[in-house]
Amino acid sequence: MSDTQPERPHPPTGRAESREILELRNLKLEQPDLASAVDLQIELLQLQRRVQARVPLPSINLEADHLNALLASGPILQFEHLPIEWSDVRFLLRATAEAMRNHEALEAPDVRRIEALCRDASRLPVVLRSWYDAVRPGGGALDAAAEGLETIVQQAMRPVLTRCADAIMARTDFSGWQLHICPLCAGEPDLSVITPAAERLLICSRCAARWRFDQIACPFCLNDDRSKITSLASRDGKYRLSCCDACRRYIKAFDARRGSRPVMPPVDGVATLPLDAAAIQRGYQ
Ligand SMILES: [Zn+2]
Ligand SMILES: [Zn+2]
Repeated sequence: MSDTQPERPHPPTGRAESREILELRNLKLEQPDLASAVDLQIELLQLQRRVQARVPLPSINLEADHLNALLASGPILQFEHLPIEWSDVRFLLRATAEAMRNHEALEAPDVRRIEALCRDASRLPVVLRSWYDAVRPGGGALDAAAEGLETIVQQAMRPVLTRCADAIMARTDFSGWQLHICPLCAGEPDLSVITPAAERLLICSRCAARWRFDQIACPFCLNDDRSKITSLASRDGKYRLSCCDACRRYIKAFDARRGSRPVMPPVDGVATLPLDAAAIQRGYQ
């Protein structure tokens, strides 16, 4: 590192991430209303990139047969498998909270809660484990210390979780997985992609793993009655919403048949903020 510019951010390490940042900058030019959300997302990506390159492989046997056998009994990735470096997690928790605070996406008391959590070396692993396990079937309740801080924890854990997902996805056959939760970490999807073959892949909100799912059914309550699914689309048709009138939740989709690039969750999550607002206005959540 140069002594003359100690505060300079690390240089880009991954081409995919640089492309995400480039797309985010384009998005800001096209939709100036999204400027603050774009700037925050770029900051978060840059923070995560500083950690990403040194995350090791998950502590799990990565042979395909082993992974496929695990998948038969449920989501593969256990908390014990995560290659967590606690100093990195603390750094990301604090830096994420600060970035969100600077963009008025977090209240000051929540920043203090994150700071307190990071100072307590024995509590932090307990709290993060509860966050990780709470979504798993029979996984127990979320620790009160993490309540309301899920977004920050999710951002801080993203480098570790996406690293695990990349390693496992490359070696596992997900074609038999038909559930609505992530085959890796049990997380819920928050985005989907419609492929050129008109299939729908769900994308995990936590580890970004992708898996094929029914084209119609609601991925939250499994309602598949077409008359109870309301669809909305962005003006250019690039994004769609499937809103479920049974459970009142919705899932966003990137329609790859109309896009000029592949789906990019950190970019598409920001680009679809106006659709989120439209869904919320209609009473969906
Ligand atoms: Zn996942
Ligand atoms: Zn539903």
